[in-house]
Amino acid sequence: MERLPAGASEERAGRKRISLGLAALLLGLFGGIAVAGERSGTDGKGNAGAAPAAGTATAESAPTTPPKPLYCLPWPGSVPHPCYQGNFGKATHLSGQQNNYAWDFGMNLGEPVTTARAGKVVHVDDKGGKEGDKENTIRVLHEDRTYGVYAHLKTGSAKVQVGDFVEAGELLASSGDMHHLHFVVWDAPTMKSIPAAFFEVKENAGVPQEKRTYKSAAPRVAPESVRAAAALLDRADGDRAKGRLDAALRAYLAITKATTGVGGNPRERARHAVDELTQAGLEQVTAASAKASSGDAPGARKALDAIVRNYRGTDAESAAKRELAALSKAR
Ligand SMILES: [Zn+2]
Repeated sequence: MERLPAGASEERAGRKRISLGLAALLLGLFGGIAVAGERSGTDGKGNAGAAPAAGTATAESAPTTPPKPLYCLPWPGSVPHPCYQGNFGKATHLSGQQNNYAWDFGMNLGEPVTTARAGKVVHVDDKGGKEGDKENTIRVLHEDRTYGVYAHLKTGSAKVQVGDFVEAGELLASSGDMHHLHFVVWDAPTMKSIPAAFFEVKENAGVPQEKRTYKSAAPRVAPESVRAAAALLDRADGDRAKGRLDAALRAYLAITKATTGVGGNPRERARHAVDELTQAGLEQVTAASAKASSGDAPGARKALDAIVRNYRGTDAESAAKRELAALSKAR
């Protein structure tokens, strides 16, 4: 979707603006499929020759409060890269709600692309396609149900697999022959782009601007705290495997709170474990309340007491306590 003018050699110094007619044509050819491989993508039907529907999404989706700077620039420390196109960039970022809040960072072929934020890799496509590297995309799910989307990667360069947990600043892949990285944050349920801010970008509330060059910071996360959290996580996994759920949950919850900053692979995994255990606990609460409904109040009470003991600090604990209160009221 956003192809740079062929042969433009000063791309890295500052993007040459693509004429609107050319942009519209490119949109027709590639429109909306920048994030190709996204079957749920909704804007893949470019209208050849039609001007982009400029401004359709701008007014209503303009943020009222600036986003928190949760992201680090997606390339290794201290390296400068120019921002060719910013949010709502006229060249191609008006091409649909998946792209409105995107950035294009100029990169030569084969330069390293790193994670902007910790999360779980949910989509990897580096196989290339008939249109080349523009189809290659990696998507990372963050803890707040947003995706980081990295597009135009080099064919065959992915260093991660679906299911991997990644830190901020981890090597993802290399940049492809579009000579820029297209980065955007999506709201996971709707797959629409949303505002995002980078902690290294000190002006404009952390939002990179077109024609400026940005340097990433390093390191992103104190390695000691990550190592300590990883050791604690191992112990918690062991406790969980042995059925010591209370001890495991205490550790998991501590990790989710202790690892601060933008990074945190252990934190992601701990949060995942807490979610799973909470879900299991909630299912047991449902089973216990069914038991109570069928007349076995003592059995239900015993089960609920066990849930309170085992799932401390989670929603399952509070749900079990509510059920217990309801049971004693009914008595
Ligand atoms: Zn782009």
